[in-house]
Amino acid sequence: MYDVKSLKAEEFINHEEILSTLEYAEQNKHNRELIEEILEKARPKKTGKGVECAGLTHREASVLLACDIPEMTEKMYSLAREIKEAFYGNRIVMFAPLYLSNYCVNQCVYCPYHYQNKEIPRKKLTQEEVRQEVIALQDMGHKRLAIEAGEDPVNNPIEYILECIKTIYSIKHKNGDIRRVNVNIAATTVENYRKLRDAGIGTYILFQETYHKESYEALHPAGPKHNYTYHTEAMDRAMEGGIDDVGLGVLFGLDKYKYEFAGLLMHAEHLEAVHGVGPHTISVPRLKRASDIDPTQFDNGIDDDTFAKIIACIRIAVPYTGMIISTRESEECRSKVLGLGVSQISGGSRTSVGGYAGYSDEERPHDTEQFDVSDQRSLDEVVKWLMDLGYIPSFCTACYREGRTGDRFMQLCKIGQIQNCCHPNALMTLQEYLEDYAHPDTKEVGEALIKREIENVTNPKVKEIAIANLDAIKNGKRDFRF
Ligand code: SAM
Repeated sequence: MYDVKSLKAEEFINHEEILSTLEYAEQNKHNRELIEEILEKARPKKTGKGVECAGLTHREASVLLACDIPEMTEKMYSLAREIKEAFYGNRIVMFAPLYLSNYCVNQCVYCPYHYQNKEIPRKKLTQEEVRQEVIALQDMGHKRLAIEAGEDPVNNPIEYILECIKTIYSIKHKNGDIRRVNVNIAATTVENYRKLRDAGIGTYILFQETYHKESYEALHPAGPKHNYTYHTEAMDRAMEGGIDDVGLGVLFGLDKYKYEFAGLLMHAEHLEAVHGVGPHTISVPRLKRASDIDPTQFDNGIDDDTFAKIIACIRIAVPYTGMIISTRESEECRSKVLGLGVSQISGGSRTSVGGYAGYSDEERPHDTEQFDVSDQRSLDEVVKWLMDLGYIPSFCTACYREGRTGDRFMQLCKIGQIQNCCHPNALMTLQEYLEDYAHPDTKEVGEALIKREIENVTNPKVKEIAIANLDAIKNGKRDFRF
């Protein structure tokens, strides 16, 4: 039976509830009156303190996703833009993945790291190699990483991951500094989540891959990841272990997208109902070609328009949750979805183990790659491109360092303090990037943008401090934050 508060995977992600949701959505997909009502419910509303959004239930959001009336889709896109603007403004947070090890004992049929793949060389970074990778990433300008590893209790035990995190945080090369390490490793125990929390991680990210249990089991035929229940309940264990910020995601292409969408939102509702806070982020990866993996062998691929609609509907349904898009997507696709609700993107990414150190912008090793990277531009090119499109690339990591995690971050959003907090933080970290890493053309565009955008800080005191800090950054000082 469906129970949002249950701690049992099959009750909070309930198959019958998803089927009945999809049926309801199908029956109502042309019900204009209901769709207008749903859109109205989701619209940002002014309150005494700021702006609030009600969000949507998985049923309501599924009706929007099912609706194929072009005029309504346009309304959804415009509402998604409005919500994004209300809570995230025009800031886009930057990050890069760092692959630590591709040793893996699982047999995920879509992933090149699966243990039967003999074509892929296995590699695990030593601490010295981690150091080299981090220096290369710092030299690009990154401040926020997502570490990635296959599941292998012998080669990649939790102690190895913890040691890598310690190494990453310890490296201060020139003005470089990794200030937030997010972690994407396999589902683990409460005790291990506690260790990750104590190591000072940002978000714990784990993709569900698919919420469809039967497909999940077929797609993960062997290894610890085969256990659907253990995997699906991982975020509850992470939160029990004290990690406030968790990141959900499904791998689009594995099963039917409408099913995944409903499952994803049910998972978000469950976290909110049980822990009082929904997911910090949602990622929307799509299946890609990789060593031993041919995406055309999977039947459920989605086109760019459907992908954009999913992103807009997620933005409308969970307004305070950050949305992440990786370099799996091309420049063209990324441009399209940025305005619809994406708040975080990677740039200059390498998805191979040891892919950064010793390689130029043009060279990229392919042998240990996890998937083909579509957007192969350098971080500086991505930064300039974002600014040319009117966005502020942000290297901010302030919230979690100031203890604004979990529901405390959501509160900040709701009382409208983002403009006096995230906005100046974005400008100050962008100024650091411009001083230390930017190409002269990028710097010129960035300087003009900061000059314009500082005027949008509404609190006069905050504005005055931010202007003083921007000057201090130009004079060599670093790491200011509100
Ligand atoms: N081993 C960890 C786990 O099992 O969750 C996490 C890391 S894995 C390096 C990161 C994610 O890459 C996976 O969760 C999966 O969704 C995604 N991935 C795997 N194969 C992929 C492919 N061929 N194309 C796109 N993404 C893929």
